[in-house]
Amino acid sequence: MTRQERALIVERILHKQYPRPPIPLNHHDNFSFLIAVLLSAQCTDERVNTVTPELFKTAATPKAMSKLKREKIYQIIKPCGLGPKKSKAIKNLSKILVNKFNSKVPSNFDDLESLPGVGHKTASVIMSQAFGEPAFPVDTHIHRLAQRWGLSSGKNVVQTEKDLKKLFHPKKWNALHLQFIFWGREFCQARDCFGLKCKICKKTFPLRKKSFKHKRP
Ligand code: SF4
Repeated sequence: MTRQERALIVERILHKQYPRPPIPLNHHDNFSFLIAVLLSAQCTDERVNTVTPELFKTAATPKAMSKLKREKIYQIIKPCGLGPKKSKAIKNLSKILVNKFNSKVPSNFDDLESLPGVGHKTASVIMSQAFGEPAFPVDTHIHRLAQRWGLSSGKNVVQTEKDLKKLFHPKKWNALHLQFIFWGREFCQARDCFGLKCKICKKTFPLRKKSFKHKRP
């Protein structure tokens, strides 16, 4: 079976399982979404969702956030981990939004990736889910699934993103990113399966007999 044929199987099964995948991070505008995505680095979406109501009650706009003391931001977001780094990034990013972008979240990769705490993956999530632009954010979880499903043999997330973009139509990227995430959370977590158990692997690798170990990024 070719990689493209496997991609078609994956797409069909994911679409059937999650026809309209919701955005898992609670937010009320592009600014709150950007902050929530930044907080979600190495943290679960559930935990981010427990922290953001208080953060945005304290400061709902870039201007209000930029005026908060870093220590205040830190105290609120501490449960998300990486508190010193994330609180500094949130304060500095808010200042830059006010001074350089008229308090708006920019809608292009270069400007987004110029913001503190915003790497390519975070920028891709914003472009995709806030602005509806085709993007395929790849983190270690999506990398793992792409490996297990034989959609990429890339050693890192950069190569995996390139491979996935070649296999799927750009119109499908935004939904597929979320569908991969939901499948990963529900069925295909980091340690407890080696490619023999459920329908995607059974259909994409019907002859697989031995446990499959993916390349870690
Ligand atoms: S069989 Fe295992 S590796 Fe394959 S999709 Fe299911 S949970 Fe993931």
